[in-house]
Amino acid sequence: PAITNHMPTAELQALDSAHHMHPFTNGDELAAKGARVITRAKGVYLTDSEGVEILDGMAGLWCVNIGYGRDELAEVAARQMRELPYYNTFFQTTHVPAIALASKIAELAPGDLNHVFFAAGGSEANDTNIRMVRTYWDAKGKPDKKIIISRKNAYHGSSMGSASLGGMAGMHAQGGMPIPDIHHINQPDWWAEGGDMTPEAFGLARAQELEAAIQDLGEDRVAAFIAEPVQGAGGVIVAPDSYWPEIQRICDKYEILLIADEVITGFGRTGNWFGCQTLNIRPDIMTIAKGLSSGYQPVGGSVVSDEVAKTLGGVEFNHGYTYSGHPVAAAVALENLRILEEEGIVDRVRAETAPYLAEKWHSLGDHPLVGETRIVGMMASLALTPDKASRAKFASDPGTVGYICRERCFANNLIMRHVGDRMVISPPLVITKAEIDTLIDRARRALDECH
Ligand code: PLP
Repeated sequence: PAITNHMPTAELQALDSAHHMHPFTNGDELAAKGARVITRAKGVYLTDSEGVEILDGMAGLWCVNIGYGRDELAEVAARQMRELPYYNTFFQTTHVPAIALASKIAELAPGDLNHVFFAAGGSEANDTNIRMVRTYWDAKGKPDKKIIISRKNAYHGSSMGSASLGGMAGMHAQGGMPIPDIHHINQPDWWAEGGDMTPEAFGLARAQELEAAIQDLGEDRVAAFIAEPVQGAGGVIVAPDSYWPEIQRICDKYEILLIADEVITGFGRTGNWFGCQTLNIRPDIMTIAKGLSSGYQPVGGSVVSDEVAKTLGGVEFNHGYTYSGHPVAAAVALENLRILEEEGIVDRVRAETAPYLAEKWHSLGDHPLVGETRIVGMMASLALTPDKASRAKFASDPGTVGYICRERCFANNLIMRHVGDRMVISPPLVITKAEIDTLIDRARRALDECH
């Protein structure tokens, strides 16, 4: 028989555990309790196979910026599938959705970031970046410039290249990562690692690790520095104010390319179109994905400056994906950007809902379990602690407080993610003030239940 939403939940769960392997999941543990089956979604709410509504505090995986259930995107996808479901952009050919989306991104992106190389997501786009910056320096006659500096606890994707750029120890432990010529410096996480330093002194010290690394590795060997404007999957780590101006100064001084990984921070998440605008940095390359299509289609890319594009213009860049510039994904992304722009969603985040969420989020700081509350725009985290004064950490092994809190959120019909002993949210940008109140009530209830 066909497998449909109408089957009993237990049967769907049994088939799921028999045949479906979940990313970043212990399969046996999940099989023991059964995955929650999500059947539909509208606005900021998911509905499960039992008919229960769950407030999605994570916008899927930081991506459903316009919220669920926008028919316009479905209609555009259907129209594009009928007209031209697929064609590549390899064979001296192009098509209107790719032209239109690249043009729109160039219009929205700051400065002279006017050129887009498409991929199917953030990991692929960051793999593109590794090859692109090395090809760039080759074309400039500086073939020794190969090293890309990144940060510990960064997340840049799950392919071998992008996970190598990332600084997730658990991924590197699988072997073969990082690939050659990737170097990691420390992250600017004052709460966890700042000790007795002021946030400002700590931010400066962590930024200066970049300069020390460049001097150590050799200025003529370093190609680029990559970072998320606000570290997302690492736990929504907001650098102290002193950090980014110093990073920008160092990149300028040593002429190394600055890559802003905007996969989460792009398309309104921080209250501006791009996180680099919120943090006042000038990248040479931006990685984009997620909010580009609000997750309705898999699409990402690298947005590069006039200078990078001009330099690459004269060489054949031996790189590309079957789905680079996929017409259906491009058409859907374009419609998503139209909605974000015409409905003033980014402006509303900046002026209204993000300040409202910030006020409510910080109010959770009085909870006995909450050490630090951090928020930029519509991405926020709570650092859980057994002792606020000493900024002590809970263990982050399975079964400890972060896991319990996540489960209590789930039981209270709120999706809030945990990263070690941090709880993280990144709701759809269309969330209303009343929905923010519900999110905060459920989060507080979950915290009470794990205390
Ligand atoms: N870069 C950042 C900052 C991300 O957060 C992610 C995914 O969470 C990626 C890259 C990888 O993107 P994808 O999962 O689309 O490959």
